[in-house]
Amino acid sequence: MMLCLLALSLSIWNFADAAIVTDDLISKHHELNASYLNELYKQFHAQPELSGREILTSKRLANALKTAGCEVREGVGGHGVVGVLKNGDGRVIMIRADMDALPLVEKTNLPYASKVQVRDDNGNLVGVMHACGHDINITCLAGVASVLGKMKDQWRGTILFVGQPAEETGKGARAMLDDGLFAKFRKPDLALALHCDGRFPSGHVNYRAGPMQANVDSVEIIVKGKGGHGAFPDKAIDPIVIAARVVRDLQLIISRERDPLDPAVITVGSIHGGSKHNIIPAEVKMELTVRTVRNSTRNKILSAIEQVARTASLGAGAPEPVVRLNASEFIPELINDAELTMKTVKVFESLLGKEKVHERPMSLGGEDFSQFVRAGVPGFYYFLGSADPKALDIAKQGGKPLSVTHSDSYFPDYVPVIKTGVRTMVAAVLFHLADK
Ligand SMILES: [Zn+2]
Ligand SMILES: [Zn+2]
Repeated sequence: MMLCLLALSLSIWNFADAAIVTDDLISKHHELNASYLNELYKQFHAQPELSGREILTSKRLANALKTAGCEVREGVGGHGVVGVLKNGDGRVIMIRADMDALPLVEKTNLPYASKVQVRDDNGNLVGVMHACGHDINITCLAGVASVLGKMKDQWRGTILFVGQPAEETGKGARAMLDDGLFAKFRKPDLALALHCDGRFPSGHVNYRAGPMQANVDSVEIIVKGKGGHGAFPDKAIDPIVIAARVVRDLQLIISRERDPLDPAVITVGSIHGGSKHNIIPAEVKMELTVRTVRNSTRNKILSAIEQVARTASLGAGAPEPVVRLNASEFIPELINDAELTMKTVKVFESLLGKEKVHERPMSLGGEDFSQFVRAGVPGFYYFLGSADPKALDIAKQGGKPLSVTHSDSYFPDYVPVIKTGVRTMVAAVLFHLADK
């Protein structure tokens, strides 16, 4: 056993050392490409598209992958794009990047800021912004394809470059799998993905082995009452009062029924009922997001939510509430394969220096890269620091606070972020293609 471990760690270090040597080559190819990629990034940034509508973005990514030498298929699971770089026999590695943007009016004042406005699915006029940095993710994907296309004498195997739609709605990965991603192409031996994190400096990466992001469930509750005049509540059953009790009691599930050492969150993100101050409405509608880590806790909390809504309603003499779990929006917990993670981390440490590679705590955010892992592919998902180090120092000293992802003022320090994304991902792919 000891000998096996020693052999494994020696082989990791040999490959990791090789990664340093190869990095000169990776960086050389990247530098030749850098101005093209930086321009491509600005184009992606200036023309963001909402989840499920990634028409221009997927076309632009498809063209970049073709230029890099990939065979490209478009329209996989909606606007999904798959570029294939094949170079003899060997392992199959998938790299996934998400393409969609968020409904926000951009307030960065950058020269390449988005001015895009569209009607959302409810007919409301909304701004559109790459506030989650997916424009960085797809630019890195194009950069990695380009560098690996020029380094074919250094590797053997097949690389699938996957541009995924609709990550923010949690539906894109599922749609690509349902459309036969692994049947149309090949089921990869492993999958890799990167994503920006605005709380860390550019040039740094962070990772976690094992559970990394939470199970995400969407639940809808409709509390029913009996409408009436606001002056005569005794003649009505007030669903707003029942809903208020439900909102409070949901937090009692977290504080009294859940194991305090097992993280979980219930957030009521939307609550609507009534039309006027003196009318008691007939119903109140609530939308919840529920985040859990353990499956047993997930099941327990979901059934407790139903119990809370029923108890509050029946206790007030109201009709049965409707409690609906939106199964199509479920995002499973993201679990990074431990061995794959630690091997890749060694490569990153050799490449960037240990001081720039950080272990991070688990988060209750959601990430549908987990669907590929759930489909039986070992996965490793890591974060690229995207903050300008100077701005980060100022924020740490109590100055202007940093804008993080999902804010209307978020912007990544894109030149070093793209470079770090390309270097780390190319090195990881070269390592794993050669790893037996
Ligand atoms: Zn996001
Ligand atoms: Zn994101």
